[in-house]
Amino acid sequence: MKIAIGSDHGGYELKEAVKAALSQDKTVIDKGTFSKDACDYPDYAQAVALAVAKGEADFGILCCTSGIGVSMAAGRFQNVRAAVCRTVDEAVTTRQHNGANVLCLGGKAVSPEYAVEMAKAFIATPVDESERHARRRMKIERAMRLSDVSGLAAEDPEVFAAIVAQTEQEDTEINLIASENTSSRACREAAGSVLMNKYAEGYPGKRWYSGCLPVDAAEELARNRACQLFGAEHANVQPHCGSAANMAVYFATIKPGDTILSMSLDQGGHLSHGSPVNFSGKLYNIVPYTVDKETEMLDYDALEKQALEVKPKILLTGASAYPRALDFKRIREICDKAGCLMMVDMAHIAGLVAGGVHMSPVPYADIVTTTTHKTLRGPRGGLILCKEQFAKAIDSAVFPGMQGGPLENIIAAKAVCFREAMEPAFREYARNLVHNCAVLCKTMADRGYRIVSGGTDNHLFLVDVKSRGMTGKEAAAALDAAGIVVNKNTIPYDTESPFKTSGIRVGTASVTTRGMGEKEMIKIGTWMADVLDNIADTTVQERVKREAKALALQFPVP
Ligand SMILES: *Cc1c(COP(=O)(O)O)cnc(C)c1O
Repeated sequence: MKIAIGSDHGGYELKEAVKAALSQDKTVIDKGTFSKDACDYPDYAQAVALAVAKGEADFGILCCTSGIGVSMAAGRFQNVRAAVCRTVDEAVTTRQHNGANVLCLGGKAVSPEYAVEMAKAFIATPVDESERHARRRMKIERAMRLSDVSGLAAEDPEVFAAIVAQTEQEDTEINLIASENTSSRACREAAGSVLMNKYAEGYPGKRWYSGCLPVDAAEELARNRACQLFGAEHANVQPHCGSAANMAVYFATIKPGDTILSMSLDQGGHLSHGSPVNFSGKLYNIVPYTVDKETEMLDYDALEKQALEVKPKILLTGASAYPRALDFKRIREICDKAGCLMMVDMAHIAGLVAGGVHMSPVPYADIVTTTTHKTLRGPRGGLILCKEQFAKAIDSAVFPGMQGGPLENIIAAKAVCFREAMEPAFREYARNLVHNCAVLCKTMADRGYRIVSGGTDNHLFLVDVKSRGMTGKEAAAALDAAGIVVNKNTIPYDTESPFKTSGIRVGTASVTTRGMGEKEMIKIGTWMADVLDNIADTTVQERVKREAKALALQFPVP
């Protein structure tokens, strides 16, 4: 057991007494002060609080004249629960009930001998895990999510209200939107940081502005980590979003009017892959490919035949609503035969690739684009990975080609995300994500819902609700009323308009991030079928909403 200890001059005597007593059988990390000279208590409170927040120490003990100042300063850090105590009984109770991990003592309030007694009792007392105390501690943790923006509450109550509403929604709903996820607190902190104040047109070491050393450091980390995570030769971390990343690739490699062979939007492709209402469809000659009408899967032989006929400049694969694994090795063969560039947009599956549960396109493709906010679980943004030979063209297409100053705060958050994605815990998340998706999919299939392509290999699946007499729009609205959020989606060869659709798209990224597993997937799938089986019955929706909320609250959002 490790204990971080600190004090100012007013608590110095207590600190020395407690340190001497605890050092006999425990590791004590003394963060100062080291004399009775006057000093500032927040400096030592911060050092001890950070040691506890980082896991360097299991407990903290802080002393000042009253104990109150150090408790205020230490309590501002995440994962730190600092308690001022006057008696042994209070020290024991705050451990049991509040899960306090930093004990704050006052030099004028207690004697050195009594302080030793309190400290010993504090660290010897386990946290009471009974439901009511756990529930109350969880409420404190949930409040921490809002403490990020507590300044806004006074400055701008209207914007604050929107953030409170989003926080409440995330806490209480089951989010099955396949393109969404729940980012880490670390990631959100970087995204909301002072790095947003800096203009940094250009690239690290070659900026158009002075004072870029701090943002250079952040962007270098992001670039290097992206390359390391995906085994790429070059990374550009500046695209503001996935669509911008795709735009930069087209600008860097082909000319207006050139041909792109890509999956059409209504079959699972993306707007920026050549939809007529998007810049891509307006600037380039788009030839769409489709999935096989029977299997609803990609037919690589048919794609090869089409590529040889069409002779595109780019064969673009990757999709927003394709539930099956993609064979990038086979796609490389097709591109080699057709003599075209191989571009992969892995926006949806980047987290699965990073987590080792989907074949990586990086060794095969000339250029890979992705968003960083879907299964990859980072900030809202884009990323381009490419072979060295395209690096210069890609970099100048992004800046100065189409963007001005990069969002260095978001780039820092991307760096945080890439590091998280290299951790063993992320591989476990990726495995669970795919497993959860398979379980949820099977639960619905067992209740008689037709699954597009008969199943799923990744983080999402499509349900053909039209075959049960409702549109995707109606199904999504009923589920929303029941606290389960999905989106309507076209299915291959859909006969409904894109506003109504015949399907819904279901993804398990967010619920997996929250720690839900097989048991919860079966519950959720059963609720979804209950709601859709009785689409006009609002009592079913109300019952499910209550149950879904109770479940959601058991899995706190990070
Ligand atoms: C989500 C997505 C994008 C781009 O998303 P933005 O909203 O522009 O960040 C690009 N391609 C695919 C396949 C996507 O699913």
